[in-house]
Amino acid sequence: MTQHSTLAQLTGCLDAYDPAALTVEQAQHIMREFVTPLRTVEMVALRTALDRVLARDIVSGIDVPAHDNSAMDGYALRGADLPLSGTRRLEIVGRALAGRNWTGAVEAGECVRIMTGAVLPPGCDTVLPQELVQDASATHISIGHDAVLPGANRRLKGEDLAQGEPALQAGKRLRPAELGLLASLGIAEVPVQRRVRIAFFSTGDELRSVGEILAPGCVYDSNRYTLFGMLQRLGCEVFDMGVVRDDPESLRAAFLQAAENADAVITSGGVSVGEADFIKQTMQELGEVTFWSVAVRPGRPMAFGRIHAGAHATGKGAYLFGLPGNPVAVMVSFYLFVRPALLRLMGATEVAPPRMRARALSPLRKKPGRTEYQRGILSMGADGVPEVQISGAQGSGILRSMSQANCMVVLAHDQGEVGAGDMVDVIVFEGLV
Ligand code: AMP
Ligand code: MG
Repeated sequence: MTQHSTLAQLTGCLDAYDPAALTVEQAQHIMREFVTPLRTVEMVALRTALDRVLARDIVSGIDVPAHDNSAMDGYALRGADLPLSGTRRLEIVGRALAGRNWTGAVEAGECVRIMTGAVLPPGCDTVLPQELVQDASATHISIGHDAVLPGANRRLKGEDLAQGEPALQAGKRLRPAELGLLASLGIAEVPVQRRVRIAFFSTGDELRSVGEILAPGCVYDSNRYTLFGMLQRLGCEVFDMGVVRDDPESLRAAFLQAAENADAVITSGGVSVGEADFIKQTMQELGEVTFWSVAVRPGRPMAFGRIHAGAHATGKGAYLFGLPGNPVAVMVSFYLFVRPALLRLMGATEVAPPRMRARALSPLRKKPGRTEYQRGILSMGADGVPEVQISGAQGSGILRSMSQANCMVVLAHDQGEVGAGDMVDVIVFEGLV
């Protein structure tokens, strides 16, 4: 894999780069620049392509729909036959059903009974819905002068997708709509990026895995489960490497194994100030890793870089995301930093989750000088304006605040205290998670 530049070159180009006081935007920018998209294309069956990233542009080989057709049940006719005043009688000369065309001629003064989706007979450009017919017998209909305009209720050939036009662009994550769209083009196999492989482990001597007995002073490792869920939702192939003891040899071995097998490794714990320095030292010895203090809450300390698989490894290696240990901090920093970087790695183009504005239901304490992501419960106010309340205690270890929330309230870097009734930015979890 070739890298545009080293981290040092990248950060050297930034004005006001201070690893001890990085803004969220700076950190995101550096990560985006440093991560090179994987470019390995796989052909997969249409259904398997769900949630994958499209690897090549898809150009429509056909017009969709392939013919002008009717949008209603009614009568196909010539627009020129619509009366300008009074009423007009037209003779019914045939029937057109979806999948069963009427191929006969339709002369002036004639019409064809037609059903939704049926191809418009030659010469017809307008459909009169059956409920707008004034009078109908087995052989004739009467039309009022103000029933429809010429061209009404006609679906035009190619109006969904025109032949030769780009239907989907590379980098798009394929959702149900795209599967349908590809199917409408008759495409059975789709070129997608290969799934990214992510290894993760937790560090901390106090951690116990689910299933183990909780000794005094210990906590269950929850980060591996939130990480598993978040990575799985993103469509990654995951390798759960368990809890790694806080000692240099175990850590080194874990990193080397991760770098051998994965495109990126995510760790939690051990990057905060006051943690045993050998964790940081070990990370640094294995590649190019930088330690940041991001002006963000929660999730301030973070390690980022690239580690090598072996001492003199040239080819293999993995990006490293060293997240803080606190469970909420792990989730917030994943969504903020890791998710956009992994989407880039996956070759996806859309990275930023949409934001909306909501009214804060209570005052929020906030100091200027850092971006805050509080967990919120978003609902619709009685006046139709979205409102948000904070989901309980916001300590970065309190996972319940995340579980009760349906959004994050984003308080910008320079923002101070928020008054009740002020409008704030929110990022809705649905779509993000
Ligand atoms: P650290 O960043 O290693 O100093 O950890 C900060 C806090 O998060 C400590 O209270 C840890 O016990 C806790 N913590 C670290 N890793 C995990 C984990 N995997 N699951 C749950 N809590 C954790
Ligand atoms: Mg720790």
